[in-house]
Amino acid sequence: MTAETQGQQHGDGWDLLVVGAGPGGYVAAIRAAQLGFKVACVEQRQALGGTCLNEGCIPSKALLESSWLYHRAASGDLAAHGIDIPQPQLNLEVLQARKDKLVGDLTKGIASLFRKYKVKRITGRARLVDSGTIEVVDAAGESQRHSAKRILLATGGQAVEIPSLQFDGERVIDAKGALSLTRVPEHLLVVGAGAIGMELGSVWRRLGAQVTIVEALPEILPGLDVTLLRHAKRLFKKQGFQFKTGCRVVGSQQSGEGVTLTLENAKGESETLTGDRVLVAVGRRPAHGGLGAVELGVQLDQAGRMVVDGDYQTTLPGVYGVGDLISGPMLAHKAMAEAVVAVERMAGRDAKLNAQHIPQVVYTHPEVAMTGLTEGKAKEQGFTVKTGQFSFLANGRAKAAGDADGVAKVVMDADSGRLLGVHLLGPQASELISQAVPALDEGWTLHRFVQAIQPHPTLSEALKEAALAALGEAVHM
Ligand code: NAD
Repeated sequence: MTAETQGQQHGDGWDLLVVGAGPGGYVAAIRAAQLGFKVACVEQRQALGGTCLNEGCIPSKALLESSWLYHRAASGDLAAHGIDIPQPQLNLEVLQARKDKLVGDLTKGIASLFRKYKVKRITGRARLVDSGTIEVVDAAGESQRHSAKRILLATGGQAVEIPSLQFDGERVIDAKGALSLTRVPEHLLVVGAGAIGMELGSVWRRLGAQVTIVEALPEILPGLDVTLLRHAKRLFKKQGFQFKTGCRVVGSQQSGEGVTLTLENAKGESETLTGDRVLVAVGRRPAHGGLGAVELGVQLDQAGRMVVDGDYQTTLPGVYGVGDLISGPMLAHKAMAEAVVAVERMAGRDAKLNAQHIPQVVYTHPEVAMTGLTEGKAKEQGFTVKTGQFSFLANGRAKAAGDADGVAKVVMDADSGRLLGVHLLGPQASELISQAVPALDEGWTLHRFVQAIQPHPTLSEALKEAALAALGEAVHM
């Protein structure tokens, strides 16, 4: 770009300009291009894929897998299979390099999809000038304007900071930092027992760190069904996790190699806790700062999320929003689903999303996966609730795998027999939960649900048995 072209209007006239190339943005761009739109996607990072691919879902799954294999080899777990392994050596450099290569391959995969579908990639930081124009400033500080019939904002979220414990990228880190550690911490303090805290806490616990999780609320994994919570806490404690629940961080001090946190409980009593690394995972907030959207009239709700209508259009006509920027769980698959619906509606299709049944997963071991109402929420909503449970300990496939900790639970409306929720703590729960989503979407009764034949022997049979248990018809218990 020459000095003369600085800030000039690019005569491109896109049908759709997407801002952000995370799961919401890149999916919207590709789907819109498939539907015949002329599309450009602006992304400030060099790599596409957003938080999910670069420093979230994918790298964390790589580390969870590697750390699980290490744990199995190191714990003597495999001896029961007749496999004796002398004490294995951890090569963290190789483990991290594998993760980095995976991230690189997948982000390049999106770049190749952009080329395939002729989505124009614009690298730089975007700011809305008006409802049909954005200005993009690149790494060299040069700016260019682009115009479009519609602009879709998909800039995602960013980690929330605790005022008394600010990120320094060294000892006080966010998820990105916890994914890139080059040494196993002695004692990792994790603030926040949500998905990030439990997943990344699991990685470093398996690799040998002492891990203490500090949670402000009385229980870990807020929102979890009561039965799953009881089992999960027992299993996580058995794995060596230490929990300080009902405690807030009110102060921190760094000294030598350590960080000392001051915690305060609900009664106002305080205690200190020292570790060599602190992961702060207390939630994320929408990343719309600097976008210029609010200044131009995009309304926010009380939680600071952008208000959108049924077409995902914000209160600024022609400007749309999906994913973490708008209300609902901050999940990659929710953003992807919204992206598809938003652009299909722009193309005149009658696309819809059933937000009630968005599945949620925590990739601990065992995995936690849930969709629909918990037993508690169903009762709160006035349903006459009946539940059914089945332990994976009684499931042949789980037993054969030697991986049978956990429980499957279904929540039923006793009056109509309708399925209200499915809650899984067990092996491959993240895959099993997908069976429940269409059943909930279609309003199936449990009688209908149990008609489906599950292959034998599979983990799916545990879910079917839980449904049979709610009907009083379980065979294997
Ligand atoms: P979260 O909202 O899931 O959990 C944050 C936890 O921190 C809560 O339990 C909260 O009570 C606690 N907390 C808040 N302030 C605190 C304080 N001062 N002291 C102690 N505890 C405090 O947030 P997260 O784990 O940071 O994840 C961020 C977002 O990313 C969430 O929306 C999450 O669903 C999503 N995510 C999803 C997955 C997945 O689907 N597997 C994985 C990672 C992240």
